[in-house]
Amino acid sequence: MRGRNLRGELDTFLAGAEQELIGFRRDLHMHPELAFAEYRTTQRIADRLTAAGLAPSVLPRGTGLICEVGSGDGPTVALRADIDALPVPDEKDVAYSSTVPGVCHACGHDVHTTILLGTSLFLARQAEAGLLPGRVRLIFQPAEELPGGALEVMAAGGISGVDRIFGLHCDPRVDVGKVGLKTGPITSACDKVFVRVSGPGGHTARPHLTADLVFALAKILTELPAALSRRVDPRSSLSLVWGRVEAGSVANAIPDEGLAEGTVRCLDEQAWHAAPDMIKALLESVAGAYGVEASMDYVRGVPPVVNDEVSVQMLAEAAGGVLGEGSVEPTQQSLGGEDFGWYLESIPGAFARLGTRTPGSAHLGDIHQGTFDVDEACIANGVRFMAATALTALWEGQRPSVTEPVAGIAIV
Ligand SMILES: [Zn+2]
Ligand SMILES: [Zn+2]
Repeated sequence: MRGRNLRGELDTFLAGAEQELIGFRRDLHMHPELAFAEYRTTQRIADRLTAAGLAPSVLPRGTGLICEVGSGDGPTVALRADIDALPVPDEKDVAYSSTVPGVCHACGHDVHTTILLGTSLFLARQAEAGLLPGRVRLIFQPAEELPGGALEVMAAGGISGVDRIFGLHCDPRVDVGKVGLKTGPITSACDKVFVRVSGPGGHTARPHLTADLVFALAKILTELPAALSRRVDPRSSLSLVWGRVEAGSVANAIPDEGLAEGTVRCLDEQAWHAAPDMIKALLESVAGAYGVEASMDYVRGVPPVVNDEVSVQMLAEAAGGVLGEGSVEPTQQSLGGEDFGWYLESIPGAFARLGTRTPGSAHLGDIHQGTFDVDEACIANGVRFMAATALTALWEGQRPSVTEPVAGIAIV
């Protein structure tokens, strides 16, 4: 890489650091903390960065932190890890099981945090040696699961001045030593919609004197998703699915109020932006046709993570350089949400899937399950991958053109 033996430098660094990093991950795993309560986690990261001569700065709410490595006029690349755990009981029988009842790092954020810490320590050494051609902003983000942590980071100026941002997530379906990459959307949006309808109630013998609210609500429940599917590009997979409906209390009385609640999922960023207005207009037209008043609360979740093509090529180049040829495999867009999408609404970047499964082993359990665990070799590989990605992006960012694709790698 750029005439340097980055792979060898990383091997030397990890020969000394890997055991410490595994211990750090196990300590976090034993002491998981929920969104916006990651005080101990934040302190542990800050202490280790400070010991390495870095100057971390804790976010205004008191959890999560940002730290910058390097200086000068070169580009600024951000690397982001999420640090929060889930309200899921730990079901694993391991020495490092969670010590907090009902809380567990079931999404692998302890692994992401540890990888970014290791990457920080390596990059700090590179900066000391004068080998960092720009700046790397390390973002240890709180509250990915809430979600909301990404917005907290952005409100604190966390990505101002950043040219490109990268992140990764554990993937138990990918072998350790490999990464899954995809250009374009890699996760999905998921919002919530709350509909309330009202109109004059009365006796079921005289529906014409009322708004016949239950009938009107039923029409909304069926016609809204149907009309929506005809108003958007089917490739966006915008879908409205109801999860709760409530109206009335007895068989012979028409109620004067009813409600419906559902989720809106979407694979496409443009359709996601248009969804609230479109759903509101359709709701009003269906409700108007049946003579009921309707109101809607639309609660935004996260946008889809939409990977930038050039950034994905940088990830591929980095993986090829330090994890070896054949370490990159294509991955699918998931229907899950990830708040990294908020960053990519503002700046280019890409999100990768990091293999955590021991090759040839049985399934280790999916994320968000109390049985989820990783092959800890993924930590060293994650450090190699993230450090090489940051350096690749800094080198590429200094060139006038960064658009030429890497030969032999096609990720679509
Ligand atoms: Zn999660
Ligand atoms: Zn996660």
